[in-house]
Amino acid sequence: MKTKAAVLYQLGEPLEIEEVELQSPKSGEVLVKVAGAGVCHSDLSVIEGVIPYPLPGVLGHEGAGVVEALGPGVTRLQAGDHVIFSFIPSCGECFYCRRGKPNLCDTALRLGGNLYDGTSRLSNSKGETLNHFSATSCFAEYTVVPQQGAIKVGPDAPLDKLALIGCCVTTGVGAAINTAKVEPGSSVAIFGCGGVGLSVIQGAAISGAQPVIAIDLIEERLALAKELGATHTINASKDDAIRGIRDLTEGRGVDYAFEAIGREETFSQAYRSIHWGGTCVMVGVPSTEARPTFDSRLVMQERTIMGSLYGSSNPHVDFLKLTQLYEAGKLKLDEMVTRTRPLEQINAALDDLRAGLGARTVITFD
Ligand SMILES: [Zn+2]
Ligand SMILES: [Zn+2]
Repeated sequence: MKTKAAVLYQLGEPLEIEEVELQSPKSGEVLVKVAGAGVCHSDLSVIEGVIPYPLPGVLGHEGAGVVEALGPGVTRLQAGDHVIFSFIPSCGECFYCRRGKPNLCDTALRLGGNLYDGTSRLSNSKGETLNHFSATSCFAEYTVVPQQGAIKVGPDAPLDKLALIGCCVTTGVGAAINTAKVEPGSSVAIFGCGGVGLSVIQGAAISGAQPVIAIDLIEERLALAKELGATHTINASKDDAIRGIRDLTEGRGVDYAFEAIGREETFSQAYRSIHWGGTCVMVGVPSTEARPTFDSRLVMQERTIMGSLYGSSNPHVDFLKLTQLYEAGKLKLDEMVTRTRPLEQINAALDDLRAGLGARTVITFD
C-alpha cells in the first residue's frame, strides 16, 4: 500500500513528506494506522547525527494507533485494538529478556533499520529501501511493526495523548519509579523540563517526593513543571542551580538528581547537587563522544550514579499501568501536549523542539 511518511535522507536536512510504499505485515508483524506521534528529542538527535542511524529512513518512535491488519502468526492482537508502540520491541528470549530486563533486549537494540526478519517493509517511489527507526517509524499515516512493539491498551483513552507513553512518559516516570525507586518524602531535583524531565517530575510526585525541584532555562517550561508536580523551580539562566538546591535542602543537596538533557555540564551539576549517599540518575541521551565527569567523592561520600534506559520499564506491564494512571487523573498527559500539528508541519515541530518551545508536539492524522 501507499502511505504518507516523513523521510530523512541527509543528516541535518529537513524531513521530506512523501508517499512511500509500505509492504503488508509479514510473519509476527502488524499494520497500524497511526493516530498520534510525539516529536521527541531523540528524533532530533538522529537528524543531527548525535544518535547513529542508517539513512534514508522514516523516523518517529513515540506513538499510538489502531491495528488495521495482522501478518501470519500474530496471536496477541486483533484488528481494531488500540496500541502504543514500544520502540524497544523486546524479543522475550535473549539474555536480558530472560533476566527481566526487556528494556535492554539485545535482539531489539540490534535491529538497525530493519524488522525482526532483517528486512524493511518501506521503500520510496524510486524503489530505494527505507530504514525503519526503532522498528516503529510512526512519522507516517501507517506503519508495520513487530507484534512485540505494539502494546494493547484499553479503547477509551485518546490515542494522541497515549502516544507520549511510547517514549517520554515511560522514560521519565520509569526513571523515578523503576530505576531510582524514589521513596515518599525523598528530595528530588530534575535538570531539564522537556517531555522526559516533566515526566520524571510526575514520577517523583506520584512517588510522594518532597521537595521536587525543577531546573530549566525557560520560564514557560518551569510553569508547566509546577503544574505537573514540581514544588519549586529554579531558572538556571538567572540563578545558580546547585546553590538553589542546597538552599532548599538545609544546605545538603538532594537524595535524587535526574539529568534529563544529555549534556556533560548538566550531568556534572546533577552529580554535584546530591548529598552524601545520594543518587544521580542519567536519563538524557548524551552523544557517544560525551565524557561526563565525576570526582572521588563517589567513594568517600557513597554516591551512586545510575543510567536509565526507557525508564527501566517492561512496556507490556508499564504501558497499561501508565494508561490507567492517566485515566484515574494521576498522570497528566493533556497538559504535556502543548501543540498538535499535521504531518506536513513536522519540520516546524522539529524547529520548535530546537528552540525549546513548549513541552511536546504531537503529530496527528485524520
Ligand atoms: Zn523519544
Ligand atoms: Zn530480548
